Amino acid sequence: MKTYKLAVIKGDGIGPEIVDETLKVLDKTGERFGFGFEYLPCKMGGEAIDATGVPLPQETIDVCKSADSVLLGAVGGEKWDTLPGHLRPEAGLLGIRGALGLYANLRPARIFAPLKNASPIKSEIIGEGLDILVVRELTGGIYFGERGRREVNGAAAAYDTEQYTVPEIERIARVGFEMAQKRGKKLTSVDKANVLESSRLWRETVIALAAEYPDVQLNHMYVDNCAMQLVRNPRQFDVIVTSNIFGDILSDEASMISGSIGMLASASLARGSFGLYEPIHGSAPDIAGKGVANPLATILSAAMLLQYSLGEPKAAAAIERAVNEVLATLRTPDIFEPGCQKAGTIEVGDAVCARL
Ligand code: NAD
Repeated sequence: MKTYKLAVIKGDGIGPEIVDETLKVLDKTGERFGFGFEYLPCKMGGEAIDATGVPLPQETIDVCKSADSVLLGAVGGEKWDTLPGHLRPEAGLLGIRGALGLYANLRPARIFAPLKNASPIKSEIIGEGLDILVVRELTGGIYFGERGRREVNGAAAAYDTEQYTVPEIERIARVGFEMAQKRGKKLTSVDKANVLESSRLWRETVIALAAEYPDVQLNHMYVDNCAMQLVRNPRQFDVIVTSNIFGDILSDEASMISGSIGMLASASLARGSFGLYEPIHGSAPDIAGKGVANPLATILSAAMLLQYSLGEPKAAAAIERAVNEVLATLRTPDIFEPGCQKAGTIEVGDAVCARL
């Protein structure tokens, strides 16, 4: 039997509760589809600070590198908020992205049919449902470009620089094309090529690459139009690929279309098939230990892991189907609606397992 090695970082707050349910779901999925998991526990964030004095111990990086992929709960909490920036739990998040070379961030914006009412978008716009994937470049662009302060005509000024190389654009565009191939075969490349030189190079590079992906329908959109189209007609999108700063903003906008933070999964990919999978929400200290956290964002992150890193799309689809079924009856308080049964973290995890 095939055994996948997964580094598991439960983290702080609700992290351990939601990850425990996810591991149960992964085990059940493996049982059904004929593979197994070896879990390699490691520490990051607050629990790592308590144990080792730093938010990202070298041992964690080494264990993650030895694994097929990484599953992460969430890190952070008030207890560590007064530490200097480089020793805070969130420094672990930035550190691990760099250490593992995670250059592509994937955020699905999806509305499960039973949760249509939770979306801030009108149901006639959502139609039968919504399923968009935003692919954001994560390690280049203006967040990493030259920056500084200077004086301009006697006034204090500051500047940041957007720069992309052709290989950087090709690398992220390939992720976009390949994701589109695995989904609806439509890719929208988002830029600001009417104004920015870096965007003009982005667009030229994406167009040149398109010849290698004749089965994917490519279109281009300016970022301001895309921000508008995401709320006006979101169903036109399948996969969106864009730069670091545009992706930062658009992925938040797109994910909020689904209406609930407890449902939002994400992946960050490195070269090859390696990735780190985590819910987009934080450690929710306000509800930690109460048994009410919604585990579905983490469970759906595990489904992405199966699909994108382990090449097990049928197993991934089975988890998504099970989640959809559970949502029709059982809900944690964050997504509760009259007519459903209120359930805790463990009950929801058990219910997903039962439907696999
Ligand atoms: P948060 O996402 O933890 O919580 C925001 C709100 O959403 C809270 O009311 C919380 O109860 C609720 N919520 C979040 N996840 C939920 C879930 N699964 N089920 C039900 N309700 C859920 O954001 P915050 O309160 O701003 O941050 C709390 C801590 O998390 C901070 O220390 C922050 O730095 C950290 N954080 C970590 C990550 C990460 O690990 N990737 C991301 C964001 C914030």
